[in-house]
Amino acid sequence: MKGFASIRWRLQIWHGLILVLVLAGFGITAWELVRANELRRIDADLSERRSAILASLRRAREDGPPPRGLPPLRGSTDGEGSRPRDRGEFPPPPPRDFRLGGRDVGLFEGSDRNAYYYALWVRDGTELARSAAAPPGLTRPDPAAATNTIRMIGTRRELFEYTRPGECVLVGLDIAPQMAGLRRFAWPLLLAGGAILALGVAGGGWLLNRALRPIAQISSTATKIAVGDLSQRIPIAETEDELGELAGVLNSTFARLETSFAQQARFTADASHELRTPVTVLLSQIQTTLARERTATEYRDLLEACQRTAQRMRRLMESLLELARFDAGQEPLKRAPLNLAQVAEESLELIQPLAADRGLKLGTDLSTARCEGDASRLGQVITNLLTNAVQYNRSGGEIRVTTGTDQESAMLRVQDTGVGMAPADCERVFERFFRVDAARTTGAGRTGLGLAIVKAIVEAHGGTVSVSSVPGEGTVFTVRLPRR
Ligand code: ADP
Repeated sequence: MKGFASIRWRLQIWHGLILVLVLAGFGITAWELVRANELRRIDADLSERRSAILASLRRAREDGPPPRGLPPLRGSTDGEGSRPRDRGEFPPPPPRDFRLGGRDVGLFEGSDRNAYYYALWVRDGTELARSAAAPPGLTRPDPAAATNTIRMIGTRRELFEYTRPGECVLVGLDIAPQMAGLRRFAWPLLLAGGAILALGVAGGGWLLNRALRPIAQISSTATKIAVGDLSQRIPIAETEDELGELAGVLNSTFARLETSFAQQARFTADASHELRTPVTVLLSQIQTTLARERTATEYRDLLEACQRTAQRMRRLMESLLELARFDAGQEPLKRAPLNLAQVAEESLELIQPLAADRGLKLGTDLSTARCEGDASRLGQVITNLLTNAVQYNRSGGEIRVTTGTDQESAMLRVQDTGVGMAPADCERVFERFFRVDAARTTGAGRTGLGLAIVKAIVEAHGGTVSVSSVPGEGTVFTVRLPRR
């Protein structure tokens, strides 16, 4: 259990935080929108009532005495039109009396806290009128502050306006009930947000669990493999998603690891077996010879037998060492441009006496096949193939060597008219120590490593080697190397 440091927890915490932020942002925006809407509605109501008062005020003024020559007044507008008196050319006298127009009385009905109220002051600050619901401490707004604006006093929202002649009209409403209504709306909002958060976090956790379960399976399989059980595989459907792909890649890696471990183990067992056999033969020959006194010729025969066995063991060990170096990528290749046809000719010269001994005919079709590689290593490849073609041929048979190029590769083909191999054997001939007929081919310096070395050298050159064969008719080995 990795606790809060695990990816699962870190993702869960981040997911929760982001959800909280998003929901908070959404909730605050929603609340602000509703609040702004409510205030706009109240302001529209206030504005409508102010217009009613202004209209009544205008009427009161028109009913008042004729103008006296007062100086022009401050330059605000009060919504009144274009009559010269209204434009301030000669200011109207303050109305002496104010009465709301008949229809407008309904706008300020009631005297409790929920009622709209108004107040009206003349230019010198004297209160001309106020409605029943107007709060007792209501004072005229400072004329210097603004001419037409909204103010909040406690929970009261008030809209006031100074007319050009200097009267102040104020309409207001205690919006505490509306604000309380808004707060009541906040609770469901908070509850809904909380529910969405809980659902989101639970859903996210579920999704995370689902998404991360394969990782747990991968890790438990890898642990079992680490302690030595190479047969373990990740039990995940190899789907198209990332983890499915990863599981697929890991499973095929594990499969390759298992195969190569098994090959390695078999190789070691085979190698010890191959070395133990000649040593056992050697020891028993020596033991038999030493059992009694022998003639000089007999001792010589024994020594010659020992020499042959030792030479065979040396060949075997050299081959093993060579393969081990190829496995470790330590076998240095002296790469240089070369022509496979030329290398084939040199190998053919070497093999000529052996072929002649067996009465075999050597045919060639050597076209230029340029590639890059280590000439002596590639010579070894061709010699190994030719030796096999001689070894497994019928007497009086034929061997044909072809070189050439196609679009991508330089090609070498060694074809014989020998015993051939079954398809199942063809698949295994490049395995180390594999012999089709082990009893028949153990002698004469056969190690079962010749083709394994051919494959190692060709692959170290970035090429491929393949075989096709018809039992009783013959075999064809084809080597392809990247052309130059
Ligand atoms: P070996 O030293 O036994 O020849 P190789 O690796 O060269 O080992 O060959 C592996 C086996 O493949 C041989 O034992 C033989 O059975 C088979 N083989 C190789 N070349 C040929 C061929 N040209 N024709 C038939 N069988 C072949």
